[in-house]
Amino acid sequence: MPISDLILQGFLTCRTKGYMQSVGTIATEPEFAEYQTRIANDLAQKFHLIAAKKFAAVMCPPGISFVNAFRYSNALILVNCAIRTQSIRTVIHGVERIADNNRTEQYFPLRLALEQKITKIDKILLAFDAIAIESQTGRIPTFGRFIAKDDKDKSQKVQLTDSIMDSARSALNELLAFESKQPPPEIILNRHCSECEFQTRCRKLAEKCDDLSLISTMSAKERLKLNDTGIFTVTQLSYTFHLRRNRKNPDSIYRKRYNALTALAIRENKTHVIGRPNLEIGKKSIFLDVEGYPAKDFYYLIGFCYEDGDDGSLTYQYYWADDPSQECTIWENFVATLKNIGSPTMVHYGAYEKEFLKKMNKRHSVSEETKQFIDDLANNSCNVLSTIYSHIYFPVYSNGLKAVGGYCGYTWTVPNASGGP
Ligand code: SF4
Repeated sequence: MPISDLILQGFLTCRTKGYMQSVGTIATEPEFAEYQTRIANDLAQKFHLIAAKKFAAVMCPPGISFVNAFRYSNALILVNCAIRTQSIRTVIHGVERIADNNRTEQYFPLRLALEQKITKIDKILLAFDAIAIESQTGRIPTFGRFIAKDDKDKSQKVQLTDSIMDSARSALNELLAFESKQPPPEIILNRHCSECEFQTRCRKLAEKCDDLSLISTMSAKERLKLNDTGIFTVTQLSYTFHLRRNRKNPDSIYRKRYNALTALAIRENKTHVIGRPNLEIGKKSIFLDVEGYPAKDFYYLIGFCYEDGDDGSLTYQYYWADDPSQECTIWENFVATLKNIGSPTMVHYGAYEKEFLKKMNKRHSVSEETKQFIDDLANNSCNVLSTIYSHIYFPVYSNGLKAVGGYCGYTWTVPNASGGP
């Protein structure tokens, strides 16, 4: 199958994902693939709008190569440039033409930057666009540019160094080699699995092998180190647990996560507790859960519950935004409810909610009094996950809310519900 930037992106996040996409494996969760395609289309659309406004860019007509399209256009930038060769099938966000000193035209790739910080994966994707341009012109672009999605920011020029180009070429070659019956890469579960269209398939295979990557808190480095000592399965790991106390610094045992103890908890189907977890959740507490849409950089759901009245009954409430224009309204409604409750303690699971409070406070709070109120709330919030991380070992592979909640007997109305919109 010809390689697209989406397949390459999949490969750069997980080799197995790139392999399965490139050989056309049927997804077990197609909704995640549809979501990725939707994000890619949204980005392309956004790029078009920004490039048209900033640089008077025009759309590359469908069915025409960008080289021919430039011949009949005065535009310096064309957007949505489709490229089809035997090995590549992709749509470049934008191609820029610049005449050199000899009045020869050269072409350079443009991409929309999702975040201000350009990652290595972003650069390799830009290099892939450069390879696609080379397939049409015979000349490899020496640089490319990222266009910020924020109107205020400038574009960022990136030199396409030999090392970036080599990374893109070797990834492309590896993907093309999968077609010629190269053995598939081994399955190593990772943090991208929760948003991957092959998650059920990979999880089943990993469980069948009792693979160490099932334990989500285990780093790749630790797994490889264990493999070097002959430990490949969770059961094998479970026999290695030994708690070493440090007499000089007794609290140091709580700062570490013992994956071998997780393995032991799983083997014995027992919860283990180290030390005395101290989780103080006051009476006036709000339990907060937030969902966002990173590609559009907006939060669309604020869900929370709190004790209302003396009988201990819980009130559940949520605010929903259909699009980014409604984000400010749901934030204001949320803040108004918080102020009505008084000065609650915010209880959340993981760092995402605290980050949400800080980000939204900066983005939408106007009065100094509100800013201070939210800052205090964020600074005094209670992260349940940090207590679990230091002290509690449930017999589950991950400390995720679904895994731990499921073990504690809670169920979700939609079994495969995820944070994605
Ligand atoms: S589920 Fe995980 S291991 Fe499997 S392809 Fe997706 S990201 Fe890779």
